[in-house]
Amino acid sequence: ELPCTLREFSEATGLPVQSVQRTLMGLGQMVTINATLDAETAELLCAEHGIDLKIKEPESIEDTLLNQIDDMVDSDEDLVERPPVVTFLGHVDHGKTSLLDKIIGLNVVSGEAGGITQHIRAYIVDKGDKKISFVDTPGHEAFTEMRARGANVTDIAVLIVAADDGVMPQTEEAISHAKAANVPIIVALNKMDVPGANPDKALQQLSQHGLLPAEWGGDVEVVKTSAMTGEGVDTLLETILLTSEIHEYKANPNRQAVGVCLEAEQESDRGVLAKLIVNNGTLKVGDVVVCGSTFGRIKAMYDTLNPRVRLEEAPPSTPINVTGFDEAPAAGERFYVLNDIADAREIAEMRSHRSREQQLGGHTVKISFEDFQAR
Ligand code: GDP
Ligand code: MG
Repeated sequence: ELPCTLREFSEATGLPVQSVQRTLMGLGQMVTINATLDAETAELLCAEHGIDLKIKEPESIEDTLLNQIDDMVDSDEDLVERPPVVTFLGHVDHGKTSLLDKIIGLNVVSGEAGGITQHIRAYIVDKGDKKISFVDTPGHEAFTEMRARGANVTDIAVLIVAADDGVMPQTEEAISHAKAANVPIIVALNKMDVPGANPDKALQQLSQHGLLPAEWGGDVEVVKTSAMTGEGVDTLLETILLTSEIHEYKANPNRQAVGVCLEAEQESDRGVLAKLIVNNGTLKVGDVVVCGSTFGRIKAMYDTLNPRVRLEEAPPSTPINVTGFDEAPAAGERFYVLNDIADAREIAEMRSHRSREQQLGGHTVKISFEDFQAR
């Protein structure tokens, strides 16, 4: 990697410092061990000493800064318990949204929810002295796409199966997605209040798909619920917390935040509103963030349940809505907090430049003056 110091050059090539110094002296150059060698000098030296030179391209600021963050390992004493992030999966109309509504209604003194068009809903709710973070995706695409981007936000998948309908095509898809993500699966056998509910048949089908219920000696917790009556909803929350206890999800709240953008949109009045979830660290108002090819400084942070409640910071597993991005980041992009807004801008610009190039098929389109005149 060049430029490098004489010391580094010596270490990389195995040439003793003195002999390199001698060679350089012969070329009329007095250099100290900490002097910097440029590529040309290094090439000359290697030719002189009969060494093959391989110059490594200097790493981009994107690589150095973000890889550093990705490689950061929190020491055990910094790690504390964090709420589990739960994703609801299941066949359409089996009750994902209704169950989440019931949970929010049960656990949170909700003000006016909504306010913005929400495609992905994400809330953190209290259950006793614990918290659970819920993500309700409109379809499986969001779940798989996030995974494809390397953004694993889900700790636990709750598979919702309507007891009157049983395992359906999207249930099967959900099972394979959850298995691919290698996360524990809890089954909510929903719509138990419906007269046609046939839980045994549904359990039978689930077993055939490799999900053997605990009550049948398997290792999959199945909770019978009704989003209508509220039956089993409390048990579902308890089961989630039990699963979470077994897996001991942890994070370090005392570091700069990393996480994922769940969705974002341009709002006419307050700029970009982005829904983020914090994976690790604590996100604070005023933090500099880069997310995909966008960047900014967190201007304001809002609770996802009560959009009027402004927050100052968001600890691990917390979903929040934020303003401050220059453009809307893409859903599923990872975000990083950086120290310097200039670095964030550089990374964002480099990425948007790159994606523009990729859109052009990797070719730079050149139109000559002659082409122009020929039109
Ligand atoms: P999603 O597509 O999985 O989000 O399903 P929804 O939550 O939108 O529910 C689809 C329909 O089923 C709605 O009309 C709900 O009112 C109804 N529904 C959901 N859960 C229950 C339940 O436990 N019992 C009954 N009777 N209806 C339910
Ligand atoms: Mg829904």
